[in-house]
Amino acid sequence: MSASDLSQLEFDQQHLWHPYTNVAKPGPTFVVKESEGVHITLEDGTRLIDAMSSWWCMMHGHRNPAITSAIHDQLDRLPHVMFGGLTHDPAIDLGRKLLEITPQSLTRIFYCDSGSVSVEVAMKMAVQYQHAKGHVGRSQFATIRSGYHGDTWKAMSVCDPDTGMHHLFQGALSVQHFVSRPPIPMAAPWTDDPDHNGLGELRAVLEANADKIAGFILEPVVQGTGGMYFYHPEYLNQARALCDELGILLIFDEIATGFGRTGELFATDFCSVEPDIICLGKGLTGGHISFACTMTNDRVALGIGHGSPGIFMHGPTYMANPLACAAAKAALDLLTGQDWRARVAEISVQLVQDLEPARALPQVRDVRVLGAIGVIEMNHVVSADAAHALAHEMGVFLRPFGKNIYTMPPFVTTPKQLSEITAGMRRLAQEL
Ligand code: PMP
Repeated sequence: MSASDLSQLEFDQQHLWHPYTNVAKPGPTFVVKESEGVHITLEDGTRLIDAMSSWWCMMHGHRNPAITSAIHDQLDRLPHVMFGGLTHDPAIDLGRKLLEITPQSLTRIFYCDSGSVSVEVAMKMAVQYQHAKGHVGRSQFATIRSGYHGDTWKAMSVCDPDTGMHHLFQGALSVQHFVSRPPIPMAAPWTDDPDHNGLGELRAVLEANADKIAGFILEPVVQGTGGMYFYHPEYLNQARALCDELGILLIFDEIATGFGRTGELFATDFCSVEPDIICLGKGLTGGHISFACTMTNDRVALGIGHGSPGIFMHGPTYMANPLACAAAKAALDLLTGQDWRARVAEISVQLVQDLEPARALPQVRDVRVLGAIGVIEMNHVVSADAAHALAHEMGVFLRPFGKNIYTMPPFVTTPKQLSEITAGMRRLAQEL
């Protein structure tokens, strides 16, 4: 059969690679025709609630009119122009907005294309800063286990070594320094005992390798892909002090946690300290177009600038793409123009109410909610394909991973729609 005789789905399954899939055994896939608000519409006309916010980015709902019209307006004016030697209003206006809402010390913005690239940029900034300061040997990183930072090489090197399959890429990945994930959960009381709060181990690893380590990178408070684990923010306050003591830069990957998802605007806001470098992506454009940025403080930016060669060695073709900048500005205006904190708090209360009953099931290990993140952790691995098979009946698209059945609903989800999502999650917990 020639490719032109194949149905859309057949063509997809025979020719298109999907995320984390086996081309020899493609998993079940829906053809999506359009989307609006919390819904995606499939080719058979079925409307499903996107309980994943399309991998956590579609915060204000699909095809949000404010964001799409910002993109349309920009498309008619200046879809793209190189950023070398040129600049434009969308980049500047977005920059002003970012400075308004992000941690105060982060004043320098590097726009890039995706979350993984923003992590690469952050790591390059750290290495170049250390070089500029004369610490030429400091090119490695420390991180916590169960982390996830993206799929490009350097980002992958600081992902959890087991789930990130480091054994598969042995020899190709940079060697990094791993410590246990912060052992005290967010909801538990903090203890200052370094043998129990994880900081003893962190100090030992950082001290032993300080002359090799450029930065300490981690997802603040919420480890997403590595297990939907919420840990105590005091760990970050104390890690900041440790990094300062040893001349190590602190990098927060807020790609998943940024823009209100946790109930704070940034997970950094749970802490009393700020990082040297922050990575933002996903919700930055409200999910409408791929975009990300890396922000840093004057110390790092000027440290690089006053060193040799001074220039920062990164500059992608689509850097500061005007369509993406316009979408991001519209998404951030939408977020801050509403009482997002109250909205996320309402979602949070309902997630607790609706999901807690699942705790009684013997196969359920834990139920956790933080902001607009709801998780049922099972005792066993849950099949995403099995959840897929129930989507039509539930009217909800859920994609569990590992042992976690979870939702990160769009903030525009109504209480009734959220009930449908949580009913779907409880059903998966019961049946899968
Ligand atoms: N960091 C974190 C914390 C993430 O959750 C993700 C994506 N899930 C990334 C980095 C990578 O972002 P992207 O997929 O846009 O490259």
